Amino acid sequence: MRVWIRDPLAIFAEGAARGLVIEGTRIVELLDRGDVPSAPVEETFDASRHVVLPGLVNTHHHFYQTLTRAHPEAINKDLFPWLVALYPIWARLKPEHLRLAARLALTELMLSGCTTAADHHYLFPRGLENAIDIEVEEARSLGVRMTVTRGSMNLSKKDGGLPPDEVVQSEDEILADSERVLKLFHDPRPGADIRIALAPCSPFTVTKKLMSETARLAEKYDCQMHTHLCETKDEERFCLDMYGVRPVELLEETGWMNKRAWLAHGIHFSAEEITRLGRAGVGVCHCAASNMVLASGICPTKDLDGAGAPVGLGVDGSASNDSSNMMEALRHALMIGRLRYGASGVSHRDVLRWASEGSARCLGRTDIGRIAPGLEADLALFTLDEPRFSGAHDPLAALVLCGAHRADRVMIGGRWRVIDGAPVGFDLARLLAEHAAAAAQFA
Ligand SMILES: [Zn+2]
Repeated sequence: MRVWIRDPLAIFAEGAARGLVIEGTRIVELLDRGDVPSAPVEETFDASRHVVLPGLVNTHHHFYQTLTRAHPEAINKDLFPWLVALYPIWARLKPEHLRLAARLALTELMLSGCTTAADHHYLFPRGLENAIDIEVEEARSLGVRMTVTRGSMNLSKKDGGLPPDEVVQSEDEILADSERVLKLFHDPRPGADIRIALAPCSPFTVTKKLMSETARLAEKYDCQMHTHLCETKDEERFCLDMYGVRPVELLEETGWMNKRAWLAHGIHFSAEEITRLGRAGVGVCHCAASNMVLASGICPTKDLDGAGAPVGLGVDGSASNDSSNMMEALRHALMIGRLRYGASGVSHRDVLRWASEGSARCLGRTDIGRIAPGLEADLALFTLDEPRFSGAHDPLAALVLCGAHRADRVMIGGRWRVIDGAPVGFDLARLLAEHAAAAAQFA
């Protein structure tokens, strides 16, 4: 089946004024001014009302936290007290809760134009050993591409870490389950729907040995690895006290300074560390909303970009955002970036690129993240017919500056998954009711 997405109002791609042609799951042709498809098409989609973007890629989230948004125990706190307040509440998480949380988060992301999502799941209380399996099932059922990260915590309070004992696992348990899910689900091939990455939670929740063992496994199974790093000054002090080194040195000592690694937040780097990270190709997921909510600081996005480090965007877990809207993440990244780099320092094109190609590079992928022949047909289409866009001139800039929130259409691997702003094939009202009922158990 060949489909022509025809005559877009605007498109985030070069040489595609007349649109693009899709065959099967892939983009096969871009059409510039005056062009027509080189071979007959079976279907034409008139995109003259639509701004067409590559499907957005979210590189950091904690789906389960959608159950504890705007929680009275947690609001108005810095990171460490925020975590300490929430750990015992999260310890009550059961498989049925996680399933609804994943379904809700994936749906919310998709409605905002996201076609590939990474989730950092590091919580495995007793009874929730199959958390990764649940997320994979939900992603497959909705048709969203995912990098599901097998997160981990093995350093609890009794060993000098932050989390309580009931939410951590032993190193053996973590490594065995990491291998199990890699063997079951990880697909390193181009066009993959599901990939697994390994994700020790942060320097203050895992041992140095687990970091090194994780790097070894990632090499063996050809997968990415992910962790929170340089999010707060508290974390930096923790590393200096516990290990006698700064967080980036910890990465070096544990075999993480390479293209397999991408970091959530990446705020408190020295100039010299930025150069080293760029040279090594370590990716950084900028979570602007979370950084502002927790007052963590401003990510040096442009410096990282300039040094060669892939920069991606993430909404982060819903307990620190508290929404999972990718377009909102773009707008926040633009605004907070301007506080650091000035009004001409960060453009709408920068944040569009970070949320697509940059995020894809963080996940180790070159088969998604751009609108170009040979890449997967993952697209997000927005209309500008809401009051917030009325009077807007540059359609691409308008998406970011006027604050687009909801895609009109989303295509993943050549299939429409959102039509007229609604997910295809399931009952959103029912999901909202079920998710709200589950969340009520975490009051
Ligand atoms: Zn996070």
